[in-house]
Amino acid sequence: MTTNHTNSPADSDVSFREDEAFAIKLDADDPLAHYRAQFHIPKQSNGEDVIYFAGNSLGLQPRTVRDLIGQELTDWAKLGVDGHFDSTRPWYSYHEIFRDTGARLVGAKPGEVVMMNSLTINLHLMMTTFFRPTKERFKIMMQSPAFPSDTYAVKSQLAFHGLDPAEALIILKPREDEHTIRLEDIEQTLAEQGDKIALVLFEGVNYFTGQLFEIEKITNLVKQHGCVMGWDLAHAAGNVPLKLHQWDVDFAVWCNYKYLNAGPGAVAGCFVHEKNSKNLDLHRLAGWWGNDPNTRFRMHLQPEFVPRPGAEGWQVSNPPILALAPVKASIDIFDEVGMSPLRQKSTQMTDYLAYLIGLLSANRFEIITPQPASVRGCQLSILAHERPRELHNALNSKGVVCDFREPNVIRVAPVPLYNTYHDAWRFAQVLARHVEAG
Ligand SMILES: *Cc1c(COP(=O)(O)O)cnc(C)c1O
Repeated sequence: MTTNHTNSPADSDVSFREDEAFAIKLDADDPLAHYRAQFHIPKQSNGEDVIYFAGNSLGLQPRTVRDLIGQELTDWAKLGVDGHFDSTRPWYSYHEIFRDTGARLVGAKPGEVVMMNSLTINLHLMMTTFFRPTKERFKIMMQSPAFPSDTYAVKSQLAFHGLDPAEALIILKPREDEHTIRLEDIEQTLAEQGDKIALVLFEGVNYFTGQLFEIEKITNLVKQHGCVMGWDLAHAAGNVPLKLHQWDVDFAVWCNYKYLNAGPGAVAGCFVHEKNSKNLDLHRLAGWWGNDPNTRFRMHLQPEFVPRPGAEGWQVSNPPILALAPVKASIDIFDEVGMSPLRQKSTQMTDYLAYLIGLLSANRFEIITPQPASVRGCQLSILAHERPRELHNALNSKGVVCDFREPNVIRVAPVPLYNTYHDAWRFAQVLARHVEAG
């Protein structure tokens, strides 16, 4: 059966069709299609490309990575310590190459973004500065489900300040029989407890449901109540357009290995609003790389820490150059494409995948990621009502790479940089055959 279905109630005006030729046509018309060739696409044992829908977990390797790392190895071999200043990209200032590109990625001003450490470490560094509980204001508000690392970090910060999570941690949950969090519930909790909340920490795109929060609106609301607003953008950076400076976000952290394709355990990103970095009364955990470069090498002659301006002032150690090279490879691609065209393709491709899944047995599974496109990124979370592990195994055995999250959710992410509409079509075929097999 090949019919015209309109993709309601999504906010896209495209009419999709379920036949293969339609997928091929969408790929042929895709202005970003050539970017796929810039990535290594893993193969199945039969030699075909896998259907890689796990870019929300670990992005694929840009082909430029090997040469960029190789360059640093060559420079190190040839120059030794002189590479700090004389290498192709001097190590001394290597992190500064992200000043503009990193800022553009998340809608920041140059200097508000630094690439350093890993996500959870950055979260701790940020909370050390931005979670300063007082007798009156001592609570942290988070959402549920939350990525466990964030919960551990928050609970340990509370304990560090001698606070009991039972009193000091507010966890906002979806209502019964709902999967995602409503804005009015955030509003209500703030109305009730806002004057006791020191910090609100939310995921911009929820790792489990794929819900995209209204970051600007929530940030404004939270700040009206006098709380600090921090965002974990692990699933938002490189997935949706952001305007962190304009939205007046206090701080944000994200990893660079999911949508940002900088490799396993990649050096992470951190945003500090310039209003905050100019406030020298804020405490921070210091190290020499956060110090003003003009006095850094006065070493023991100048033992007083003088923070360098901007987010770079939160750096602690000198950065791992071999690990920053893949970040450069990846961010350069994003800077060339731009988040806006990426989002356009992403919206259409995810709507298309949702449409194809929607044609299949609704009593077997449901998409819990909210509609429309404005409240999600590219991830769709499929809740399987029956035998979820079996479904995941069946997908894997047919060349789909996607992940399973306890207890019953399969997450698939068609990533606009390297996935194709045909990938979405092939995925739906695999799913359909599994449904038919019973
Ligand atoms: C992926 C992810 C992490 C991972 O933390 P690391 O410090 O990079 O290991 C943490 N929080 C969220 C919300 C994530 O999505």
